[in-house]
Amino acid sequence: MNKFFKFSLPIGIAGIVLSLILYATNGFYELVIPLFEKTMDDGPAFTVIDNLVYYLPLFFAALFLAYVIAGQIYMKKYHEKEEAAKTGKTIEKNEAIKKELDEKAEYYRHKYYTNCPKCGAVRVENTTACSFCGTSLIITKSSEEGKAEVK
Ligand SMILES: [Zn+2]
Repeated sequence: MNKFFKFSLPIGIAGIVLSLILYATNGFYELVIPLFEKTMDDGPAFTVIDNLVYYLPLFFAALFLAYVIAGQIYMKKYHEKEEAAKTGKTIEKNEAIKKELDEKAEYYRHKYYTNCPKCGAVRVENTTACSFCGTSLIITKSSEEGKAEVK
């Protein structure tokens, strides 16, 4: 998760409150404006700066508000992504289980020769083909019939 947004709610709200306090108490104005008063003459430029400094805390509050909103949107998207990834993993897992069960069902659907019909090797447990020559050990209808014909 992006660290910049992780704590945007508490930091943003603290920032908004602090900005509004600075605006309401004129704290920021009284701190900054003497710096300009020392170096500037009273004139139109000073009036602009005077207003700017006066309203700057409101601008800060707006920035913090934007920070909070952006953080909330980011967090929501982040959690949605996380949720989607989790769902994807669950589906993957279920598909793997289903495949395993299908294979098991397929295995138990057949009967198997205990010895390979081709080379006579003993069937290894849970295998479907001769481990020696690879011949299928599944007893099919046609192989049964074949046996009957031999008899
Ligand atoms: Zn064999």
